[in-house]
Amino acid sequence: MRTLFLKPIILFIFLVSMVACKQALFTGAERDLIHNGGEEAPFDVLTILNDEDVEKLRNVSEDIPLQFDDTTLQLLLKKLSITLKAANGVGIAAPQVGINKNIFLFIRLDLPDEPVITVINPKIVRHPIETVCFEGDGCLSIPGFSGNSVRYPWVEVEYYTENGEPVRERLEGYSRQDTFSAVIFQHEYDHLQGVLFTDKRCDAPDSDGEKDDFDNHFDSDCEDDDF
Ligand SMILES: [Zn+2]
Repeated sequence: MRTLFLKPIILFIFLVSMVACKQALFTGAERDLIHNGGEEAPFDVLTILNDEDVEKLRNVSEDIPLQFDDTTLQLLLKKLSITLKAANGVGIAAPQVGINKNIFLFIRLDLPDEPVITVINPKIVRHPIETVCFEGDGCLSIPGFSGNSVRYPWVEVEYYTENGEPVRERLEGYSRQDTFSAVIFQHEYDHLQGVLFTDKRCDAPDSDGEKDDFDNHFDSDCEDDDF
């Protein structure tokens, strides 16, 4: 008789401990930020024009536990996609909206229909020694400025998709005249380290040796895609 009562109690304790073992993906403040404004509202993008934003943009982000069915994670991805589209960008990283987690979205301009790719817990596992000076980098967090940045011409990367599918692939392209998927990935990956493209400025090969004047070169008519 006693064991009849004990069994459901043990089962209950086991289930509760299973739930407790699930790690929290986000802090309370991050959850509030993600849910704020409802499911369809774009996030406000942090910019270097605001001191508090700069502090968050300079934070180093962290990997998330691999719990891809988490509803808050899926909502974050949905709202990042909405924000990317609203801003007409080619990439956006979670830190740019105040979530310091290793997550970003980027558009594969080199693939048919230019799909938006979700990247979770990414790593750059291989790259060449040589670098190129990519012309026309831009960033949603640095409005109105376009400049050149030092980049690898290709990168081999690993990450998880929104469904938890592990991906390992080589990304190529560093020219706005052709494709620049390798550069977009590096730009977004840098955001996760608290690095902005203006930290990596370089002289274009055909320039006269003068770097862009970042402090005096804000151009509100800049038409390059930002990321
Ligand atoms: Zn950016």
